[in-house]
Amino acid sequence: MAEEADVIVVGGGLAGLVAATEIADAGKRVVVVDQEGEQSLGGQAFWSFGGLFLVDTPEQRRLGIKDSYDLAVQDWLGSAGFDRDEDLWPRRWAEAYVAFAAGEKRAWLRAMGHRIFPVVGWAERGGYDAMGHGNSVPRFHVTWGTGPGIVEPFERRAREAERAGRLTFKFRHRVDALTISNGRVDGVSGAILEPDHVERGKSSSRKVAGDFTLRAQAVIVASGGIGGNHDLVRHNWPERLGKAPENMISGVPEHVDGRMIGIIEAAGARLINRDRMWHYVEGIRNWSPIWPRHGIRILPGPSSLWFDATGRRLPSPLFPGSDTLGQLQYIMGTGYDYSWFVLTQSIIKKEFALSGSEQNPDLTGKSWLMTARRATNKGAPAPVEAFKTHGVDFIVRDNLADLVSAMNALVGNDLLKVENLKAQIEARDREIANPYAKDTQVLNIHNARRYIGDRLIRTAKPHRILDPAHGPLIAVKLNILTRKTLGGFETDLDSRVFGQDGKIMPGLYAAGEAAGFGGGGMHGYRSLEGTFLGGCLFSGRNAGRAAAKAS
Ligand SMILES: Cc1cc2nc3c(=O)[nH]c(=O)nc-3n(C[C@H](O)[C@H](O)[C@H](O)COP(=O)(O)OP(=O)(O)OC[C@H]3O[C@@H](n4cnc5c(N)ncnc54)[C@H](O)[C@@H]3O)c2cc1C
Repeated sequence: MAEEADVIVVGGGLAGLVAATEIADAGKRVVVVDQEGEQSLGGQAFWSFGGLFLVDTPEQRRLGIKDSYDLAVQDWLGSAGFDRDEDLWPRRWAEAYVAFAAGEKRAWLRAMGHRIFPVVGWAERGGYDAMGHGNSVPRFHVTWGTGPGIVEPFERRAREAERAGRLTFKFRHRVDALTISNGRVDGVSGAILEPDHVERGKSSSRKVAGDFTLRAQAVIVASGGIGGNHDLVRHNWPERLGKAPENMISGVPEHVDGRMIGIIEAAGARLINRDRMWHYVEGIRNWSPIWPRHGIRILPGPSSLWFDATGRRLPSPLFPGSDTLGQLQYIMGTGYDYSWFVLTQSIIKKEFALSGSEQNPDLTGKSWLMTARRATNKGAPAPVEAFKTHGVDFIVRDNLADLVSAMNALVGNDLLKVENLKAQIEARDREIANPYAKDTQVLNIHNARRYIGDRLIRTAKPHRILDPAHGPLIAVKLNILTRKTLGGFETDLDSRVFGQDGKIMPGLYAAGEAAGFGGGGMHGYRSLEGTFLGGCLFSGRNAGRAAAKAS
């Protein structure tokens, strides 16, 4: 049965919600279609840490950080490394997005009640030269309330529009095809899935209970990326990153299945930069999983020692928190798909944060009291301590020999030699007392401690790894964790999708991860972090406004 709306939005994640609320606010009628149930509204963003890339904010200024649009663009272009003809629109999106992050993004969110935790984080610190990869300054602004806190204003606006009759949700509606009439995309069709009341994030039934067709003047695709589909990740894995990992864990729910991307491509849309992806190398298997192969990313501070599977320390500047893609490339070049952190109790306590709303009950629950304990507690935050106790990837021992033998036992080989690790750790430990050391990781630690935010909650006081007073020793096996799709459908700045013939496909728009967060890949090869949620906000807003205007 055909139903009428001005615009159909495929996907009730953050990008879809932003687009839909803009359409409804423009006085148009919008239908939001999602294959999952109502309980999963908000998609990945709900699970996220809520970190946002913002430039030259009051939060930064209060901490003595001097940031600017020019510095941020320099960092972005140095990280993106745009080098292809098809980077034309991604580069335009990148420049427009950085202007948004340095301009109205914060005020726009603030007007909707969004608030920011006052200590700004410093992600992807690079370590090359001024024009290379990385954030020159801290820019990772954590939403007070994490993922749910970024979804909340848009869900609220959507519910208001629903009550006013301008927005309709169609949950458990899985889109299987676009409809195109006279060269114009004018609807979607697909399957109605049987009701399923599984908890948010858990895999839901795919049993079909009916079918549907919807018609509108435009369709916005906001269906997310491919990170939950390991076959697709391996299929798109680029040679420059070595062989695709045999073992991966999932940083996203199973509904991030990439299926819709194939459907839109088959309808004639131009998918670019599919070989660019953003997977993490500090993944740990969740001892209390929600979705299949559920992994959590450690957001590491700068002090853990990082060894590859053979026991070699990762080369400079591949230290924790510096260059995710460089680390992935290095690790896959070793012939193994895992690596190790070796650290102390003093380091884990101050430096381990876990990415995900459910792993940060203090920030997610907006509890100042609990959050203050990050700076004052004797132990690590409770979720980190829980991983230390229950996580299969964590080993805790009082001496290095026992630690190394347990590390070998965990992976079932004898690649690690205690004498080899000892020599490298002792060499690093000899450098630690002197602030004018030559070890670049030690220099980075001293640099980090000059930033008050890091000194407060992210960087342990420099100490020897083998000093028993800072023990016990901890080893963490780090797995490759799939997360983000950096390529996507090529779009202009109004989020209109280009066809494979290079012409705009009338009636079709794309936003969020499906659009490579704008343009088909505004990040290029690398992200500065906090740019994905922000990319959903910006591309969703552009898509919604443009589609509303055109319909
Ligand atoms: C644990 C975690 C932590 C993160 N932390 C951060 C962070 O701190 N900062 C940051 O910037 N980013 C972060 N991210 C990334 C960010 O959350 C995502 O990239 C972003 O939310 C993607 O939003 P989206 O709307 O594009 O897609 P999604 O959230 O994936 O939503 C897509 C929706 O489309 C639906 N759908 C798909 N196909 C169909 C179909 N055929 N028919 C109907 N519906 C369909 C899906 O069910 C889903 O609801 C994190 C992600 C995770 C999982």
